[in-house]
Amino acid sequence: MDNKGFFGNWGGAYIPEILHQTFQELHVEYQRAKNDPAFWQEYLHLMRTYSCRPTPLTYAENLSNHFGGARIFIKREDLNHTGAHKANNVMGQGLLVKRMGKKRVIAETGAGQHGMATATMAAKFGFDCTIYMGEVDVRRQRPNVFWMEKMGATVVPVKDGSRTLKDAINEAFRDWVTNIDSTHYVFGTACGPAPFPEMVTWFQSIISEETKEQIKELHGKLPARIYACVGGGSNAMGSFYHYLDTDTELVGVEAGGHGIDSGMHASRLCGTDASPGVAQGYKTMFLQNEDGQMLETHSVAAGLDYVGVSPILSDLWEKKQVRFEAATDKEVMAALDLTMKLEGIIPALESSHAFVQAFKEAPTIAKDEAIIINMSGRGDKDIFTIAHAYDDPSWKEFIISRAAEYSSKS
Ligand SMILES: *Cc1c(COP(=O)(O)O)cnc(C)c1O
Repeated sequence: MDNKGFFGNWGGAYIPEILHQTFQELHVEYQRAKNDPAFWQEYLHLMRTYSCRPTPLTYAENLSNHFGGARIFIKREDLNHTGAHKANNVMGQGLLVKRMGKKRVIAETGAGQHGMATATMAAKFGFDCTIYMGEVDVRRQRPNVFWMEKMGATVVPVKDGSRTLKDAINEAFRDWVTNIDSTHYVFGTACGPAPFPEMVTWFQSIISEETKEQIKELHGKLPARIYACVGGGSNAMGSFYHYLDTDTELVGVEAGGHGIDSGMHASRLCGTDASPGVAQGYKTMFLQNEDGQMLETHSVAAGLDYVGVSPILSDLWEKKQVRFEAATDKEVMAALDLTMKLEGIIPALESSHAFVQAFKEAPTIAKDEAIIINMSGRGDKDIFTIAHAYDDPSWKEFIISRAAEYSSKS
């Protein structure tokens, strides 16, 4: 990152005047933490005692035999507290907030996973917590909203625009502008104005810090390739970070939805639908029309359904240091099904995108090579979507009978 927050042509900090001082403060606190080895030790201790780190690197022997090529390893970010890599970021930012002496955190959330992680962090650190969530998402993600509220967070449904993630981000910035002194905005992914892309990447880099040791121990050398799904890009950046200067090939997998030529997807760096733009405080490749109006996106995985992408990934894409692919909703269901049957592991719909591409390439890679799939989260949260996709009749019956139970009581 240069001193204006740019990664090559991408990134920056396009923020209102009123937030300049807050961002300056955040820059300073982040640099101080980064240069203080005791901070990372405190972070590691927190993650070991609260979030099951280091997460295992699992050799997927049955999948490897099934495809007959590379040895497939799965990095188990699903075993974090709240079931995904999001804990890495929110716990790190929580420690920073404590250092800054602030008492209130706000966050945006789409599917609710980042909101959930932020609510747990706020409860643990004793911060007030407000979560902004599009009204449509509040309705779609009731279980997450329920838990956030039970952990003491206030969930505010946002009624602007398409009433989804990007609208929640805008509303969170509005809150921040009016509550600068008391409040920290816990940004959820490696996007937004500097220093968020770099800072979130730093906390997530704990993933590749671990896998680099683990793969040497389990396989004797570095992996040939690493696969990660790309929403905003935080789990991808975290799992790539310590391999950027190695020969390991890095593959980011975006949401192909109904296909990248269908107009129903969220692929920014794979395909040709995105273009450079400035929005939400940073410059990156956005899915937008010629007037800069954001396009509708689609993915079976709510966590990948975003119009922008990390400016660091846009830079790595431009420099051809990361290859980008897309997985369709249909392919995702097939990869998920196979992983459950052969390994007894349930990847999140988001993570399953990385599995799709790894499965396509594994047979073509030599047997003495390893590949790592970063499993960003567990699929338990997706039971409604997955059961619907299987068109499972007994699940339908279960939902109907539960609903009937409720309405007979009221
Ligand atoms: C939020 C989420 C993602 C997408 O976010 P990134 O910042 O791209 O990592 C991916 N997988 C899971 C399980 C998530 O919860």
